[in-house]
Amino acid sequence: MILNSKKAYKGVIERYKKFLPVSKKTPRITLLEGNTPLIYSPSLSKRLGKSFEVYLKYEGLNPTGSFKDRGMTVAMAKAVENKMKAVICASTGNTSASAAAYSARAGMKCVVVIPEGAIALGKLAQALIHNAKVVAIKGNFDHALDIVKEISTNYPVTLVNSINPYRIEGQKTAAFEICDYLGCSPDFHILPVGNAGNITAYWKGYKEYYSQKKSSCLPQMLGFQAKGASPIVRGKPFKNPETLATAIRIGNPASWEKAVEAKDESKGLIDSVTDNQIISAYKILAKQEGVFAEPASAASIAGLLKLNKKGFFKKIKGKRTIITCTLTGHGLKDPQIAINNIKRPPVIKPSTKEVLKVSGII
Ligand SMILES: *Cc1c(COP(=O)(O)O)cnc(C)c1O
Repeated sequence: MILNSKKAYKGVIERYKKFLPVSKKTPRITLLEGNTPLIYSPSLSKRLGKSFEVYLKYEGLNPTGSFKDRGMTVAMAKAVENKMKAVICASTGNTSASAAAYSARAGMKCVVVIPEGAIALGKLAQALIHNAKVVAIKGNFDHALDIVKEISTNYPVTLVNSINPYRIEGQKTAAFEICDYLGCSPDFHILPVGNAGNITAYWKGYKEYYSQKKSSCLPQMLGFQAKGASPIVRGKPFKNPETLATAIRIGNPASWEKAVEAKDESKGLIDSVTDNQIISAYKILAKQEGVFAEPASAASIAGLLKLNKKGFFKKIKGKRTIITCTLTGHGLKDPQIAINNIKRPPVIKPSTKEVLKVSGII
């Protein structure tokens, strides 16, 4: 029996079908993605000062642990509707995890091409356990994307990277959820930028909600790249992008122009943060907010702190300023990064006295 309560949450396609390129005939290939919490952040709000409210859109709570699921449900549903038999993607990790899971759900064949040694172990495990055909290349993400673009152009396989417009359509629902929750759009929206699909999607979502009168204003979009992989900031592609935030280790973003458009139209900015700033923000989130997000996600918070230090956020008399930050993926994807950046626990004799002494209880 399938539980079919009218009130039950049925995933982003069902919830936002009016705003998506779907019909009754489009199959609902869903793992109940979306509907993620917008968590108020007391400590970050306090850092900015009275009248500022910072919220975390915690996309790590999607079924495969990243926002990619929002786009994948739509991309996969359309692939099934169009009678495709296989999908392919290049990935820094999360796209492959999501594509693999949704393919398993849809009974679709899934091929993923990844840069060897440059994706977090959790993400690789996901792609493998969901039975995707995983191919590692001795090259980076940009090489992998070139290859899968060529294959999908010449063979009957659907590309499910974010240049697939259905991915962007699905991902824009995160902006809808934020507006629905807040009752308006935020004043600023901060997010990490890798291949730049997500900043494109959020901006599209905010604009659509605004034009449909579902929200009364628009946010300024603030995107952050990792310094060692910041082609948009520098204005030219990076041949060898480097950052420990592997999810945004991209030298030539596919949605470059759209990201610049989002920045310009919203009067926002695209800037970069160093790996040190990313790790510091990653620890602040975990330690002070109890939220474990992966390093790429922490680029949002690193960006928030960088701008705050510069005095970017101006107090407006009599007005609350609302800032939302997307935390794109779950910290458990890449536990090694956490372990590497924290002091290891002491190992001692199995004695109560010793434990009391070392733990600081007395
Ligand atoms: C994919 C991804 C990003 C980058 O998103 P783009 O749409 O490529 O800009 C950031 N963080 C995480 C965790 C991701 O998986």
